[in-house]
Amino acid sequence: MNIFFPMNRSASINSLLSTPEFDCCIIGGGATGLGIALDAASRGLKTILLEQHDFAKGTSSRSTKLVHGGVRYLQQGNIRLVMDALKERGLLLRNAPHLVHNQAFIVPNYKWWEKPFYGIGLKIYDKMAGKLGLGPSLFLSKEETLEKAPTLDPENLKGSVLYQDGQFDDARLAISIAQTAHEQGAILLNYFPVTGLLKQQNKIIGVWARDQFSEKEYEISSKVVINATGVFSDAIMKMDDPFHQNMISPSQGIHLVVDKEFLPGDSAIMIPRTDDGRVLFAVPWHDKIVLGTTDTAINEISAEPVPLATEIDFILSHIGRYLSRDPSLQDVRSMFAGLRPLIKGKHKKTAALSRDHAISISDSGMITINGGKWTTYRKMAEETVDLAVQSFKLTAGNCITKTLLLNGHDQPPPLVQIDQLTESQLQELVRHAVKNEMCMTLEDFLSRRTRQLLLDARIAITKAPAIARMMAVVLEKEENWIKEQINIFKITASSYLPGSSNQN
Ligand SMILES: Cc1cc2nc3c(=O)[nH]c(=O)nc-3n(C[C@H](O)[C@H](O)[C@H](O)COP(=O)(O)OP(=O)(O)OC[C@H]3O[C@@H](n4cnc5c(N)ncnc54)[C@H](O)[C@@H]3O)c2cc1C
Repeated sequence: MNIFFPMNRSASINSLLSTPEFDCCIIGGGATGLGIALDAASRGLKTILLEQHDFAKGTSSRSTKLVHGGVRYLQQGNIRLVMDALKERGLLLRNAPHLVHNQAFIVPNYKWWEKPFYGIGLKIYDKMAGKLGLGPSLFLSKEETLEKAPTLDPENLKGSVLYQDGQFDDARLAISIAQTAHEQGAILLNYFPVTGLLKQQNKIIGVWARDQFSEKEYEISSKVVINATGVFSDAIMKMDDPFHQNMISPSQGIHLVVDKEFLPGDSAIMIPRTDDGRVLFAVPWHDKIVLGTTDTAINEISAEPVPLATEIDFILSHIGRYLSRDPSLQDVRSMFAGLRPLIKGKHKKTAALSRDHAISISDSGMITINGGKWTTYRKMAEETVDLAVQSFKLTAGNCITKTLLLNGHDQPPPLVQIDQLTESQLQELVRHAVKNEMCMTLEDFLSRRTRQLLLDARIAITKAPAIARMMAVVLEKEENWIKEQINIFKITASSYLPGSSNQN
């Protein structure tokens, strides 16, 4: 039975003020940081997590929404990464059944050798999942393939291989992990950027952080500081050592969202080899189809990365080769970009860099974790907290997250689309998000508490004024706040629609 503790920002700030020293202070509230907060708190460590924007505002709300071993990493021969991810996939399905489900994928075969080639690979994938497998892969004839995916281009189609993987809602899983960490005693604060590191005799003993709303600065003492800021990791490492050499090679991946009519039925499509040697997915997500992704090395890191025109063309032209009706720019309901925090390697192309994670500890004692995948967030957290406990001799229990059910596991999936809700249902949803899920801005609600912005940006923009008014009632805000929220949201949302001036 779930005991319900709403996440409340003011109460969390009061708890922060009454805690003289934490065991563990985590910078960054994406999948990695939230996983660490949950692991640490559930081992009995006094834990605080600070996020500069909203939870999962970064890469963690912009994934392809797959809980997967990574068929592509199997092609690359990264057996350990695939094995770990398949095991974690099974655990996530058990611990968060309200947000993760089984998804059938079709690999269409247009050349004679593709069926045996991908079929053998996927049989190995099945075997590697062992007891946590989601079902055997199958060979389908052309007719069976078209029955499951009627919009696949039938010309020269030989058949397909069908395999099983996991699919999830990333931002909702982030909130579920945050709520579970909160239930376990962690303090989690959004809109609370870390602005500096506290040091004594060259050892880190805490952080400076600022409440974005009150603009108050806080000095927070902690035995361990963990940097889990993804693509922003280098900036935090420079606070520790101004001579730090950047270790992250950011790579952008974009997704286009189109209506379900482009891929009716329940199956997703996996295209195993694009022109740049990647895989491309078309995945049912809520009542839409997510198409992606790309791998574009970039120099500038932003909290709101924008899809490039070349990336949009790449996805539309590739997916068009496989569907009987090609989606065009006008069919795109929304699009979103995320940044991979890849760890620099000797390869020039970002597609070749490791998707595995790396954990390091600096001379001053800061632990930094980056890389990895959403799927493996739990294992990454376990390893990070193990290192913190050993290095700082913390008194902590054993890791329990393998079997810890996440908040909401016994509830129906959360509502993430607002266009079909009545006024009173919408009011209730807004109230719930504000009162229980630390939803602070209009964008928090439309992008991550619900997923309307990613599912259909035009609907999100249309509904924004009404939602801002509902939020203002619950948050007790004035007219100015409403106007400001609508303006900020419209600017952000415009880059989720094709044709934005930034896409060149
Ligand atoms: C296009 C794309 C598709 C992907 N698809 C999948 C997939 O289908 N399945 C899968 O398993 N994985 C996928 N991944 C990988 C996965 O999304 C990432 O590995 C994961 O989300 C990274 O989480 P993170 O917490 O490390 O980083 P982030 O989510 O970026 O979180 C870091 C956080 O740190 C915060 N921060 C930065 N500086 C500060 C500061 N000074 N103070 C406080 N907070 C700060 C940021 O605001 C941010 O919220 C995908 C990645 C990309 C880019």
